[in-house]
Amino acid sequence: MSFPFAADDDKLREECGVFGVFGHQDAAALTALGLHALQHRGQEAAGIVSFDGVAFHDERHFGLVGDKFTNRAVIERLPGERAVGHVRYSTRGGPTERNIQPLFAGFSGGGFAVAHNGNITNALELQEELQRRGSIFQSSCDTEVILHLIATSPHERLVERVIDALSVVEGAWSLVCLTSKKMIGCRDPLGVRPLVLGELDGAPILASETCALDIIGASFVRDIEPGEMVIVTADGIESRRPFAPKPSRFCIFEYVYFSRPDSIVEGRGVYDIRKAIGAELAREAAVPADLVVPVPDSGTPAAIGYAEAAGLPFDLGIIRNHYVGRTFIEPSDAIRHMGVKLKHNANRAVLAGKRVILVDDSIVRGTTSSKIVQMVRDAGASEVHMRIACPPTTHSCFYGVDTPDKSKLIASRLSIADIQDFIKVDSLQFLSLDGLYRALGEAGRRAGAPQFCDACFSGDYPTRLADQERFAGPDAEPEPTVVPLLVRTG
Ligand code: SF4
Repeated sequence: MSFPFAADDDKLREECGVFGVFGHQDAAALTALGLHALQHRGQEAAGIVSFDGVAFHDERHFGLVGDKFTNRAVIERLPGERAVGHVRYSTRGGPTERNIQPLFAGFSGGGFAVAHNGNITNALELQEELQRRGSIFQSSCDTEVILHLIATSPHERLVERVIDALSVVEGAWSLVCLTSKKMIGCRDPLGVRPLVLGELDGAPILASETCALDIIGASFVRDIEPGEMVIVTADGIESRRPFAPKPSRFCIFEYVYFSRPDSIVEGRGVYDIRKAIGAELAREAAVPADLVVPVPDSGTPAAIGYAEAAGLPFDLGIIRNHYVGRTFIEPSDAIRHMGVKLKHNANRAVLAGKRVILVDDSIVRGTTSSKIVQMVRDAGASEVHMRIACPPTTHSCFYGVDTPDKSKLIASRLSIADIQDFIKVDSLQFLSLDGLYRALGEAGRRAGAPQFCDACFSGDYPTRLADQERFAGPDAEPEPTVVPLLVRTG
């Protein structure tokens, strides 16, 4: 069976990005631009729902935002001053149009569109209960349980029904919702995924990252707090905290890899954090060398930080082809390996005869790393040392990230020494978990009460994993068979 395979298949992938605008004449066009800036959070499909004061309108398309939503006719089919949008990446359950968000439902109180970043970890449990009560599911998105919970809530007012629904939902959810009168933004009490509030010409904007505000010239107002719900109406913005507060567990991998380096996330500039990570790595894992080379593009800021801290020259020894896009080919090992060369090539002029420190953000499967190392050796490097800007990725993510099966996470089955042999480097070191926390300005990881979610490094999941534990045990792989009807949608 063929399925989408990307040339950078050796990375964890964020599954979704969300955006919303309330009260601007160019709402749909601004949403398309915002989603374009969030494209790194999902490249499989995009959708926008708008409201023109009378009716809702929607457009859902597979492919990149720039390919589908730059068409004037598409934007003209999304009239109105209010719009919400979503970009999605998910291979689980197979891509179908019904899974493209924002999801939309017609309730007794009116239409309701929801765009979700994250994953609901008790979705199947909730789905079974809802089906016993008569709900009929239309998509295979975990997000759909939220719609059914709202529809069946005994409360009268819509906002109370949304709160009622979310109070039984577990996992990670940053939501942007649109009704005929309101735009609602909210984050789960742990605040696992980001969500920011911005403003353009007096119109409130909600977005996964600040880079989506920058592209439309909007100003950043503030982060939506963990457990906060903001309700935007024509009268202004109301902030509520309807959920029991919990210590924040923001996803630490957003800083390592997911978020764009030009975003400000939870008060920290991602680019600066990645340079600090590189500097910390240089302090923890120094090695005599001539040159620091990033694995582009995601390893670049950490490599700059490493080189500065180590007092070594930095140079572009690997050149990235930016025009690869997503390639849809059979994922046999032979062709998977070719995919690396579609994206990267060695720069012989820089590498020949040099002792090279390669800096990458993470190692997931290890297949790409071994090919890149071979490429650098073939270009004449005399030594290749690999430094990784995070700890070994040993556990799957259940909070909105497309993770390979645990058995395919190389660090879950091999020691660091064995990974070093597998990718054939002269030395390999990962940043320690405490080192990652130090790069984030913390003294270290607080034992028993960590400041972030770091479960893919530690296995310390901040919520129960109800569906996963029930069907396969906590260490099982997140196969689609584990959750037969609902897939993760990010
Ligand atoms: Fe982020 Fe990893 Fe936690 Fe998932 S498990 S939310 S990727 S830190």
